[in-house]
Formats: sequence, C-alpha cells, structure tokens
Amino acid sequence: EKWVYAFGGGSSEGDASMRNTLGGKGANLAEMANLGLPVPPGFTIITDVCNAYYDGGKTYPAGLDAQIDAALAGLEKVTGKSFGDPSDPLLVSVRSGARASMPGMMDTVLNLGLNDETAEGLAKLSGDRRFAYDSYRRFIQMYSDVVLGVDHSLFEEILETFKEENDYTLDTELSADDWEEIVSQYKSAAASALGYDFPSDPREQLKGAIGAVFDSWMTDRAITYRRLHDIPASWGTAVNVQAMVFGNMGETSATGVAFTRDPSTGDKGYYGEFLINAQGEDVVAGIRTPQCLTKAMREAMGDREPSMEEALPESYAELAAVFDTLERHYRDMQDIEFTVERGRLWMLQTRNGKRTANAALKIAVDMAEEGLITTDEAVLRVEPSALDQLLHPTIAPDAVRDVIATGLPASPGAACGTVVFDSDVAESKAAAGEKVILVRIETSPEDIHGMHAAQGIVTARGGMTSHAAVVARGMGRPCVSGAGMMKIDYAGKFFTAGGRRVEEGDTITIDGATGEVLAGEVKMFKPELAGDFAKLMVWADKARRMKVRTNAETPADVQTAKEFGAEGIGLCRTEHMFFDADRIAAVREMILSDDREGRVAALAKILPMQRADFESIFEIMEDRPCTIRLLDPPLHEFLPHTEDDVRDVAAATGLSATALMERARSLGETNPMLGHRGCRLGITFPEIYEMQARAIFEAQVNVEKKTGVQPVAEVMIPLVATAKELEILKARVAGVAKMVQQETGKAPVYLIGTMIELPRAALRAGEIAEAAEFFSFGTNDLTQTTFGLSRDDAGKFLGDYLDAGIFEKDPFVSIDTDGVGELVSLAAERGRKTRDTLKLGICGEHGGDPASIHFCESVGLDYVSCSPYRVPIARLAAAQAAL
Ligand code: PEP
Ligand code: MG
Repeated sequence: EKWVYAFGGGSSEGDASMRNTLGGKGANLAEMANLGLPVPPGFTIITDVCNAYYDGGKTYPAGLDAQIDAALAGLEKVTGKSFGDPSDPLLVSVRSGARASMPGMMDTVLNLGLNDETAEGLAKLSGDRRFAYDSYRRFIQMYSDVVLGVDHSLFEEILETFKEENDYTLDTELSADDWEEIVSQYKSAAASALGYDFPSDPREQLKGAIGAVFDSWMTDRAITYRRLHDIPASWGTAVNVQAMVFGNMGETSATGVAFTRDPSTGDKGYYGEFLINAQGEDVVAGIRTPQCLTKAMREAMGDREPSMEEALPESYAELAAVFDTLERHYRDMQDIEFTVERGRLWMLQTRNGKRTANAALKIAVDMAEEGLITTDEAVLRVEPSALDQLLHPTIAPDAVRDVIATGLPASPGAACGTVVFDSDVAESKAAAGEKVILVRIETSPEDIHGMHAAQGIVTARGGMTSHAAVVARGMGRPCVSGAGMMKIDYAGKFFTAGGRRVEEGDTITIDGATGEVLAGEVKMFKPELAGDFAKLMVWADKARRMKVRTNAETPADVQTAKEFGAEGIGLCRTEHMFFDADRIAAVREMILSDDREGRVAALAKILPMQRADFESIFEIMEDRPCTIRLLDPPLHEFLPHTEDDVRDVAAATGLSATALMERARSLGETNPMLGHRGCRLGITFPEIYEMQARAIFEAQVNVEKKTGVQPVAEVMIPLVATAKELEILKARVAGVAKMVQQETGKAPVYLIGTMIELPRAALRAGEIAEAAEFFSFGTNDLTQTTFGLSRDDAGKFLGDYLDAGIFEKDPFVSIDTDGVGELVSLAAERGRKTRDTLKLGICGEHGGDPASIHFCESVGLDYVSCSPYRVPIARLAAAQAAL
C-alpha cells in the first residue's frame, strides 16, 4: 500500500484530484508543481495514515517508516542536501493538511532538522550566522510548543528579559551571538520543563512532528471546529513534509499571504500582506504588523511602509503572473502563501480562498461575466447560508459615531453588544440571551466557541489574515482586528483607548466595514439587495425547479417575504393573529364559554378582524397562492395568565374569577402537544373552523372586488391522523364556501389540503389524498412525533446527543433524511399514487435549511416554505439542488 506521495522537483506523484487522499494542501502543492510553478519539493503522508493511526491505538501502519525513509532519500536527492548533515543540512517544514481547510486548527513546525551542528553548518553555508541562529531559536520554541507541549510564553519571557537586560527594543537589534545565547537558554529551559534534553536527532524530530500533526486531529479545538463545519472525523489529516525555503535571509527575502481578489469585498485586484526578512508564522500570528502587497492597497490604507510591489518589484511581478496562472487554472479566487528567498519566489500553498458573503457573491458574478465560469457555476459558488451575512445590518450613514478605537476592517457587518473579555464568559452570557462583543488581545483556536457565541469580535493585535480575521469572516461575524491603541486588562476586566475606559458589560458597537469601535448602541440599517445579489438570484431562479414560499402572517412579514422573492405563502399560522390586542379578549371569551352559543357569539366578534387580516395578506400576495392553516394549538395557550387578564376576561364573560380559573384548569393537559389541538379542535368545535373558513372566503371575494385580482387560497387542516378527520372537516369548509358563494354571487377559488405531521398520516397518505388536494409536510411536528422527541424540551439534552455522535445534526434544524425523510418520501409517493395532481410542499423549519432543501428536491416536492429572511437562501439552495 502506498502511504507517501512525493511532489516538486519537476513533477509530482499526485495532483489536485486526489484531495481526499492528499488533503487540500498536499493535493494543491502537487498540482502547482505539475503546473511548473516553483514549489519547494517534499512529500505527503496521506490521510488514510491518520485513520490507521487512530484505528491502531496511535500506532503507524506497517511499511510506513520505510516509505518515509525512501521519500526522504528522494528529497535529499532533488535538493542535493542531506538530513542532519552539517556540511549542507536539509531542513524541512512539517504541516497538517486536511481535506477541508481548517485554518489555525492544526499545527506547523518550521526549520526542522536543526541542532547545534546543523545550525553551525547553516551559518557557514548561508554566510549569515544571525539568520542561522534566529532560525534555530524559532525551531526550538515552535517544536517545544507544538510537539512537546511546552508553553511558548516560557520562551517569550526569556527573550523579553534578554532584551531588557541588553537595552534592546526590537528583535532586529539582536546579533548572531545574542541569538546563539538565546538558543542555549531556550534549550536549558526546555530541558528543565521536559525533564529530558531537547531532541537533537533530526529523524527523531521528524517522527515527533509527524505524530504531533496526527495528534492535533483529535484536540478539543479541532473537534469543535469540525462540529461547527460539519467535517467528519473520518476524513483525517495528511502530513506534508517539505524542504524549507527561508524568508528570513535578509532584506531580499520575505514571506507573505495573498489573495487573487479582495476576500472582503470581492474586488478584482491582488490583495495581501507580507513581511521582509521574516518567516510565515510572523504574518499569520500578528506579532509584527505586516506591510501591504500592492501599492494601491498601501495608498488606500495610508500605510507608510513600502508595499511588496515597491520593495521587491521583480518578485512581485513574478508573483502576479503566478496569481493569473492559478486563477485561470482553478477558475476560482486563490488564497496563497509564498516565500521569497534571496530574490527567488517559492509557492508554499494555494487553495480556494475563504471570503465574505459579499465577496463570494461579487466574485461569482464577476467570474461569470468574465466568462471564467458559467452562470450555473456562479449559482453553485455561493453558500446559501452565507447569504445570511448579506442580510446583516450595517451602520446607518447618518448615525452618530463616537469612536473609541480604530483597527482593521477585518470582517464586514455591524454588531452591537456588551463587552466581554473571555470566550467562556461570552458563551455563557450568550446562552443566557445576552448579545456580547468578544474583546481579546488576539484570538487563538481556543476562542472559537466564544467567537461563535459573540455578535462580533475585536482584537488589539493582528492583521487582516490573523486568526481572528480569518475565523470571523468564515463565521460571518463582524470583526475589527489590530486595534493597537486598545490596552486590554484581562484581570481588571476593562480596556482603555485614547484616555477612555470601557468595562466588561459596557455596550459597544463595532463596524467591521470601517474597523471602528464605537461607544454605545449605534443606529443600523438593513442592506440593499440589488446589483450582484439580484443578478445571482435571476440565475438561480432560472436553474430552480421548486417554488419558494414563505411562512408569514403579519402584513409586514408578508411584504418583506414578497420583496425577497416569495412566490406564495406556504404557512399562515392563524393562531398568531389571535393574540393581537384588539381580539385576544374575544378569543378568550370564545374559549371560556362552555356552550356553542357562547362560542358563536364570541366568534362573530372575531370574524371581521380575521377577515381583515386575510384581506391584507391577499392584497399583498395578489394572485400568488396562500396556504392558510386553521387553528392548531391547544386552547389553553390563549388563556389569561396575569390577575389583570383574569379580571378583564371575567368581566367580559360575566363569569366569576373563580369559575373562570376553574374552567381554565379544566382545559389544562398533561401533554398538550399530543392533546386537544389541530383538527381535533375542529372536530369538537366546528364553529371555530367555520368562522375561519368564512373569513378566508369573504376576504377573497372582497379583495377580488376591490383589486380585480383573484386571490388563491389553500385551506389547510393541521395534525390530521386519519382520512376520516379530513373528510369531515373538508365537508364543513366546502359548505361554508358554498354559502359564501350563494351570499355574494362569487365562487371563491380554493383548494383544501392537509399537513402531514404525524407518522400515521404519512403511512396512510394514499387514503388521505382521496380528500386532500395538497399536502404540506409539517416537519417540526413530524420530527417530534417520529422521534417521540419534544420540540420544547429537546434542547436540554440535544448537545449530549450531538457530542455522543448519536445525531450528526439537530434534527429540528436539518431534516433526518433516514427516518423522518423516509416518511416524507413514502407519503409523497403514496399520495401522488392516489391523486397525481397532489401539490406537495414543506412548511416546517427545514424548509429554510439548505441541506433539507436538497432532500426536498430529491423527493420531488413542488415547493419549500420558510421564514421571510430565509427566502433568498431557499431560492439559492433550491437552485443548487436542481443543478
Ligand atoms: C410543523 O409542525 O412543521 C409546522 C409547520 O407547524 P408548527 O410549527 O406550527 O407546529
Ligand atoms: Mg405543526
């Protein structure tokens, strides 16, 4: 079995198509080498080894050692150097590379192969002792931290003390001898922390580093990241061992990170940061503030250090040519790491770049218009859930901005919340419903959960490619990074900036588009959905088969949904209308009357209000179909709760407060979700459904008269378990329609259908379809009843189920395709067999979840319905599902 694949030196054993085996980084290094780009040679230990390692209780598969030895020998041959040889030492980097990129999650070791002898050899060979010992001390620190678990602060303290004692402020002031002294102090510090000597044998170092990469696959932070991004543990990570090239060999050496287009805005133009005389981790870690890649960027940012375009023009030109080659080859925006070693450019990585929703949209539309990709491909390029970000608020242009501090505009959108300094605190406050802004000196992978819980993130240190910036963009959280004037005191729980002091719990607003941190809560507004967004939506609508409707009942929500492109209403929950201030009293009166007459009298008061509700919905929706569900929840949900309410209702009904409380108690149920609700109410109290049907039909007639447009109603009976229930209620509703027709001379245009939200209804769908003209899958209840899992209580233990891997995803968020899905597909099939014109839709929360929408496409539903703000997401997801 082949465990190790070589790349570089003119050709590669792998290529980009082998991503699952080689990991993203390894596959693209191989591909770049195949394209003839300058890639330092190396080899990839494949992802299967990671699985074998864990399957074997952290042991390696047989034959791996020999293959690594062979690959190393090959590497020595192409580089002409040898591992551990003081006269010309081969040094390598060791990096992880999973199938999906996991930024900052996995560990990297640079300069591996250094020890006292090879460091001296490197010094002679490079003619630069300072460089050699600077590299050596970096290696000891990195290796100790990443592989041996010695905290890096131990080394930082040694360096700080040394600098103080010698009156140095900058690292660049240290001489070769100084670094050599630091190396010896580092080694003894490592030895006393470890209880054994720092390993000097390069082969032992390599073995340790490879093990550390595999071990890091199962750290808490990697597990958390995978959970948040739905990455299965079984994918494993590959390990890339690659000959070192040095960006820290003086003023003609540099290292940087770049994007072929702006990852924040999507603007066409190279974008990135670099540092002269530095190694890769300096840019990413945000220890030194990087310089701009291009002159245009530098001018836009008012940065005074020269850009790479100006400082290293030849290398820059070469890099720009590589960018073009890569973009044309991959047909997508690339995120690139490079190093310049004494004027020579080397490519260390390329991958499809992470981007904000705005940038994703702009890049997809631009590339389609440039002819680089098709419009269908453009549709597939934008994550539906990322559209959420485009619906993010921004700060109103006329808002008063009381600026406390300014940093970099690291991730767009505006957010407001109370200041917290700790990720655990952020998580617990957010869980309690508080909106928080996480303020950190810098973030690390240990902060992922806090960043996720926060509305936005601010850091005092770090550039546009720092951990905070990259992760926040990925999560769609607004972020301001590198606000250097902020002095953060974690212990005192406050920060100061420009003479002002902000405590934990104070409210701030951040503007991720300008990099400003503002005092208090600042006015925000909704984004405009025109331009690129509209173009993409047109392409999506062309590609899509399923219709997209909305779940809405207030005129404002219906209007919003229509603007977002809703093609009808998939669920109007009439009970929401019963709570309005002008009618709740009448609703309570209806519920509390203990005879039919009393109910009919109260319903007569509700009728005109309910009719007016439907009129405004029909007017907005014009000729689009509107599914209106008759009353569903158990009646006691409407009962008076406060003493005042009880007194008011008692007065209105003429009952005594005691009698009223007694009646309320009698309506109580042990298990209301399985109790007297849905169509069961219609069976017991047909007058309620008759009033609602009348309101619908009269509203239709009135609106048609007023506007000339014929409203289309779909009357929906909830929680049906048997065909008989539907038959009885359908006859009632149809009877009302006939009456309205006789009274008005106009025939209402309507269908009668049912929700499928009980397993029995799904199983008996063939019979139910005899009466139903449409089915709408109520997957909230269907999930609840299929699993026997309470919608209202599952939250308490769902986390345990996710942690234990029993559920991969919350089944109330993303449909359980195996179980609930099987019922849906079976009901669709049985229903259509009875009635081939049966209209099929979904109106549970799943109707706005992209993965569930894919499922709906696969079982041939006619439409999905979701909340107004998710309509664009559903349009895009439905298009992707159809492509
Ligand atoms: C459902 O059960 O999926 C549904 C849409 O109805 P509700 O959420 O109102 O119970
Ligand atoms: Mg339901």
